[in-house]
Amino acid sequence: MIELADRFGRVATDLRVSLTDRCNLRCTYCMPEEGLAWLPREEQLTDDELGRLIRIGVSILGITEVRFTGGEPLLRRGLIGIIQASAALSPRPRLMLTTNGIGLERMAAPLREAGLDRINVSLDTLDPERFQALTRRDRHADVLRGLAAAAEAGLTPVKINTVLMRGINDDEAPELLRFALAHGYQLRFIEQMPLDAQHRWDRHTMVTGEEILAALAPFDLQPDSVSRGTAPAETWLVPGHVDAAGEPARVGVIASVTRPFCGDCDRTRLTADGQIRNCLFATEESDLRKLLRTGATDDEIAAGWQIAMRGKRAGHGIDDPSFLQPARPMSAIGG
Ligand code: SAM
Repeated sequence: MIELADRFGRVATDLRVSLTDRCNLRCTYCMPEEGLAWLPREEQLTDDELGRLIRIGVSILGITEVRFTGGEPLLRRGLIGIIQASAALSPRPRLMLTTNGIGLERMAAPLREAGLDRINVSLDTLDPERFQALTRRDRHADVLRGLAAAAEAGLTPVKINTVLMRGINDDEAPELLRFALAHGYQLRFIEQMPLDAQHRWDRHTMVTGEEILAALAPFDLQPDSVSRGTAPAETWLVPGHVDAAGEPARVGVIASVTRPFCGDCDRTRLTADGQIRNCLFATEESDLRKLLRTGATDDEIAAGWQIAMRGKRAGHGIDDPSFLQPARPMSAIGG
């Protein structure tokens, strides 16, 4: 086994795979209302190409965890087969998926049967009208049903990802936590990052992790003694509550901007068109699709992937005056 190591001693073992750049929502902080061109079909990896890269990642390069994302991964036609093939790999990687929850009501049980271990569902508000304003679609009820179906199917602990935006939903932190606690879901707040297609992100109006914790003061959160390891979320225990498995209830904050965790990053990213990104904020990519389509061997592809990761920078550099937002928006990178 060879490793995906970089010059700073970090080793990537967590692969984020974007299955498509398409989405059935248009969250204001992620995508424009219209006008974002999709990747041409011929540029996207086929299911077989994707399966081959995941196999190379797992069996040659030491990937132990694969998270499927997008765009909206539930829109990928071959999703179940891709998960089945990944679950059949040896050593078997842990398999997760991040979704907006639309269609999950129907898909949760088949995903579990195919071998998916866990799921994250994005939900920014409990108010259907706000949901429509935020996502530009009237699908709030679908997401709630999707969450329930995921728990029922055993994709647990079901985690909820929430992005708070000032003046839009930043008054909802306590209510969202009460909702998560009541259903046994684990809530994680994510600081808004400069990855929107419209380039409207503004550090000065962003809701910070510190503000989120202040809003949760009534819950008397306690430090979590379980080590965070390479996980992006810092977690706190919520006294008096347990999760669906009877474990102490937790809430997480992913403060990517104000408390970056780049020094512990163990992620490598594959886009739907076969590009390796060594960082969410990378401005350069490495083309594995070209290697795949010009007859490269598994070892040659693995070597190309290793080179891509060796160039990973020490940090995302959002605070550097020279910071450049990546050309691809979050929906085309895979969050
Ligand atoms: N469509 C799926 C979903 O909604 O979860 C997967 C892709 S989406 C890009 C993954 C996560 O990224 C979601 O939780 C979303 O809220 C988050 N996200 C998108 N744009 C973001 C931004 N600019 N800053 C922080 N999180 C963002």
